Amino acid sequence: MEKIITRFPPSPTGYLHVGGARTAIFNWLYARHMNGKFVLRIEDTDIQRSTQASVDAIFEALQWLGIDWDEGPYFQTQRFEIYREYIQKLVDSGHAYYCTCSPEQIDAMRQAAMASGDKPRYDGTCREMGRIKTTQAVVRFKAPLSGTTVVEDVIKGNIVFKNDELDDFVICRSDGTPTYNFVVVVDDITMNINTIIRGDDHVMNTPKQILLYRALGSPLPTFGHVPMVLGNDRARLSKRHGAMSVTAYRDMGYLPDALLNYLVRLGWSHGDQEFFTREELINAFDIEHIGRSAGIFDIEKLQAINADHIQASAASDLVDPLWPFLKDRGIEIEDGDYTTNVIQTLQPRSKTLTDMADAAMFYYLEDIIFEEKAARKFLKAAALEPLRLLVDKLESSTDYSEKNLEGVFKAVMDETGLKLGKIAQPVRVALTGKTASPGIFEIITILGPERVIPRLGKAIQFIEANLDKSSG
Ligand code: GLU
Repeated sequence: MEKIITRFPPSPTGYLHVGGARTAIFNWLYARHMNGKFVLRIEDTDIQRSTQASVDAIFEALQWLGIDWDEGPYFQTQRFEIYREYIQKLVDSGHAYYCTCSPEQIDAMRQAAMASGDKPRYDGTCREMGRIKTTQAVVRFKAPLSGTTVVEDVIKGNIVFKNDELDDFVICRSDGTPTYNFVVVVDDITMNINTIIRGDDHVMNTPKQILLYRALGSPLPTFGHVPMVLGNDRARLSKRHGAMSVTAYRDMGYLPDALLNYLVRLGWSHGDQEFFTREELINAFDIEHIGRSAGIFDIEKLQAINADHIQASAASDLVDPLWPFLKDRGIEIEDGDYTTNVIQTLQPRSKTLTDMADAAMFYYLEDIIFEEKAARKFLKAAALEPLRLLVDKLESSTDYSEKNLEGVFKAVMDETGLKLGKIAQPVRVALTGKTASPGIFEIITILGPERVIPRLGKAIQFIEANLDKSSG
């Protein structure tokens, strides 16, 4: 079987948004699944709107998502020689012609067509005139005047276009620059692309492209047009639905594998399986199960998938991704093992790395600030005795294993006659400042004596100071 070659050809006129990323992912996954090849091409012929910053942003987003390419990046602006050669081929074979109609003439034709209720179109004045190249001439493609062009779409089924609705479109402007549909076809032919999966906003271009393939004598690739990604109001996803760029999701604390998983499921299914590792996606992905209806971007679902991926990750693999979030909060990770332990306790309770970093703060802070409500409720006279007893026992023990801690707490319970909850909550507030945290034994084990003893001491002083205030 022929090797599958897919491509992703973004226009660098902005960041990589989640809809574009999904198209890239589909093409990449299909190439990986089929042991094929994935080509990256930057469609930068719109010089006004293309920027280097956008090119960089696209590379950065693809790299973060783990989308690697086997060939490219090609840049269309570096391929003008090739386009010129193909324009000449079409002119020589009679599939294209020079047109010297002035802009005013073209405008008049459009007006006339519209006045008689037709679509604005070129009327074919120069089609059979055998014009030669001049500095003002454009090159037009000689489109068939009748019949139909059928897009055999592997996702949408056959889509039939009437040829008399496609006019003799320009493939090369008078300044010598080639036009969009033409360069796409030349690139796809010369890069041996045989499978094109793209957004269905490009469906209207496909019949023109098919005619160009035929005129150039090249076999057609397989086309599949994917429905757009919509917002929860079913409008095309835009800024008002929230963040659009892939890297914004990175910065909000999503894992690349989770965004990948979510975006794929937003347009493809494999039974009712929701959670996929990258490997599982590569193994299972096929074009047949790309859906025909639009995917609705739902941030809560993305969060749920992200939580599942955080949970399923090895804690040590999350140290590096978490690092920038802690750094933003003024924490420098020095000890990767300590942070691995910290992460382990937070994996079951974090939807994003942002959540995780917030919840991790108490592990790193020198000085714990007690939340006011928590302190009022739990750091009061009744907690003094158990806290003091606990300090005594912990000071004389070097074994901070969970098993030993259970014994220590049991002894405090026995001596005070208090239930575990009555002891654990003040301890939690002392150690974390809050009323909710990972399990009390887990955090004591991780924090270790050098943090636990001073924090308990500070809580005791806090209670004593309040008692003095209220009695004095
Ligand atoms: N450059 C086009 C875009 O960014 C993609 C064209 C194509 O896939 O054929 O939308």
